[in-house]
Formats: sequence, C-alpha cells, structure tokens
Amino acid sequence: MQYDTIIIRYGDLIMKGRNRAQFEKRMLQQLKLKLHDFKALKYHKLYGRLTITLNDEPYEEIASRLKDIFGLSTFSPVVSVPPELDKIRDTALGLMQSLDKPPATFKVSAKRGWKSFPHTSQELNHLVGSHVLRASEGLKVDVHRPEVELRVDVQEEAAYVFNTIERGPGGFPFGSNGKAMLLLSGGIDSPVAGWMAMRKGLELEAVHFHSYPFTSEKAKEKVIDLAKRLSHYAGAPLKLHLVPFTEIQTTFAQAKEDNLIITLMRRAMLRITEQLAIKNGANGIVTGESLGQVASQTLGSMNVIGRATDLPMLKPLIMMDKQEIIDDAVRIGTFETSILPYEDCCTLFLPKSPSTNPNLYIVERVENGLTELNRMIEEAVEKTEVMNLTPDAADASEEDRWF
Ligand code: ATP
Ligand code: MG
Repeated sequence: MQYDTIIIRYGDLIMKGRNRAQFEKRMLQQLKLKLHDFKALKYHKLYGRLTITLNDEPYEEIASRLKDIFGLSTFSPVVSVPPELDKIRDTALGLMQSLDKPPATFKVSAKRGWKSFPHTSQELNHLVGSHVLRASEGLKVDVHRPEVELRVDVQEEAAYVFNTIERGPGGFPFGSNGKAMLLLSGGIDSPVAGWMAMRKGLELEAVHFHSYPFTSEKAKEKVIDLAKRLSHYAGAPLKLHLVPFTEIQTTFAQAKEDNLIITLMRRAMLRITEQLAIKNGANGIVTGESLGQVASQTLGSMNVIGRATDLPMLKPLIMMDKQEIIDDAVRIGTFETSILPYEDCCTLFLPKSPSTNPNLYIVERVENGLTELNRMIEEAVEKTEVMNLTPDAADASEEDRWF
C-alpha cells in the first residue's frame, strides 16, 4: 500500500497564542525551503499540525531531509482516506497486508480529532481491529507490546492510517529564537555547540580567532569547512567572522603572566565578540565549553572569563561528557573535519600550568597595565574579515541548490 501523505508534528505543548502562529509559519517556510526541489508536494497547515501530500514524490528521500529540519519533533508516512468507517477498515487491512514482514501481534490505536465522526476512539479500535483479525490468519492482538501498532487518526478533512513514527531533531525552527554569535574553533566541541544552538531556533554568526602566521592557512580552511557544514543545517548562508588575533596574543605572551595567558586571551575574545555581536544585532555568545574539560573551563575560570562581557553566554555542552559530544559530532558530520591536525591560536601559547582558579583582581590589573590593549581590540574588530558561507557542492544534497 502506497503512502500518499506525511504528517508533521512539532512541539505543540510549549507554545501558545502568537508564538504558535509564528512557529507554524516558520516551520512551513523551512519545509518548503528544504524540500523545494520536490515540485509536486502540496503543503497544508491545519490546526496544530502540518501535512504534506506526496503526489508520487519519493518518500524515503524526503524523510531523510525531514530528519534534519529543526522544530520538527516527529513525522509519519500515512495513507489518507475519506473519514468513513468502511474506507478506514479496508485501508487498515491493506496497510497490514502490505508490510514487508507479517507481524504475529498488533493493536489498533485510534484517535478522533473530528468529534462529529460517529464512532469513539474505543469503538474504532474494535471495529478496525476485528476487521483486520478476521482477514489475517494467526494474527493476535497484544495491547501491551504489539509488533505493529496500527494507528488511525480521524480528522474532518481525512482519516490517516499509519504504523510508523519517525523522529526529527526537535527544537524550534531555524531563526525563531533570535541571533547569537558562535565562537567557532577548529575543535570537536564548538561545531556541536553550534548545531545545538541552531536546533533551539537560534540564528548564528560564527567568530573565529586566528594568529596568522603562527596558525596556518590549513587551520583557517578547516574552520571554513566546519562553518559550511553548519550552514547546511541552517538552510541559509552562515556568516563567518575571521578575527586577526596575532598582535593581542603576542602582547599577552610578553606580559610574563604565563598562568593567566589563557584567561587573558579568552577575555579579549569575548570583548571582541561582544562588539561584533552589537554590530550584527546578536544578543548572546555561544561556546563549546564543557565543565572541567580544561583549565579554562573550571567554574573558577569561567567566572573570571565571563565577566569580560555583559552578553549572556550560552554553553550547550556544559554538562556533557566528551564521549557524548563526540557521538554528536559524528552524527552531525563535523567530527572528521574536527580531528584533522591543526593548531588553534590558544594551543600555541599554552603554558605548562594554566590557572584553574584565576583571580579577577589580578587579571584586571594585568589588563590595565597593557596600555595598548583597548586599541588592539578596536583594531581587531575593524580588521575582521567576513565570509558568507554556503554548503559545499559535494556536501550539499539537492536541498542546498537554492543558494
Ligand atoms: P573546541 O573543541 O570547541 O575547540 P575545546 O575543548 O578545545 O573546544 P577550548 O580550546 O578551551 O576547548 O575552547 C573553549 C571554547 O572557546 C571553544 O569551544 C570555542 O567556543 C572557543 N574557542 C576556542 N578557540 C577559539 C578560536 N580560535 N576562535 C573562536 N573560538 C574559540
Ligand atoms: Mg579548542
């Protein structure tokens, strides 16, 4: 039996009123954008859900794209029929008979969204279930652990019959929660943090600090590749700000405060990022920090570093373990790029024993002693190079061709 429609479900409990209308509108935009090359698809916005009529477009390819669309919690391929008992019963039976592997047990789970339909959900379970049982030798009902759960969703416009629920990434549609700056290094963590932030509906602009010629052209290319990969998920071009950090870093290296150099660099990064955020209308800073992972990510360090900016710091990975982060990096396709050998500007000047509990008073005193620091920060902002990145042709599936 051929699926003719896909039901799309999203985080329906969270939103009310105006938010919800906005959310639905963006969700529909994202779907149309990411499935734009399947020309025959027809979209329908109904109360609390969306449906897509397939019109013979290939379900499997569409499903694999739906799994990457932020805001989408689950979806199901369904057979739709007019909401009449006989049609529902025959379709349910047809669907059971068309399964690759005939199940030994099943149950029917009916739902009646259209209250004028003459049978209750309970009645439907029996009416449909008995019809299927009569025609299927050896099949049994198991209400607790059925091999197949045959679902019937009766709405006014149609009844939907289906047996699978696929998961999407969840979250909010891209760009529905404002904009933030992502501190993007070439490592494993920050691209994952970026993906998680986007999943929550944030639009991102990436910021990368490089210390050319101490850091190579290769290191920069790597970050560009990661940003391209993130733009694939955004479904929109991603801005990458490349900040020249050599002068500031060398100045800190000469300050003879080895233990504090990472703290100083991080604070300078935040001050620069804050200015870039203001210029570009962003209201927060996302990083790939994870509690305790390195000296600059202890609570004490984060306390002193974070005070360099007034913007909210968003740290999606803060409570995750490295292995969990790696698993996510593999899943979103950034891991292979992240593990290429490279020098990050911060690893270059890594001291033997970076402070895990820097003293804010001392840090501020060192900064105040560097009379040129403010000028250097202004200059770094001015000399920042901006790139607009889109997914690579090789990485891009059909969906990205609209760029
Ligand atoms: P990552 O894997 O993301 O590099 P990490 O575990 O190596 O993280 P750090 O090197 O201490 O940790 O960096 C912590 C965070 O600071 C990074 O996740 C990233 O958000 C930011 N960051 C570090 N280096 C840079 C850089 N050169 N440019 C921009 N952001 C950076
Ligand atoms: Mg790093």
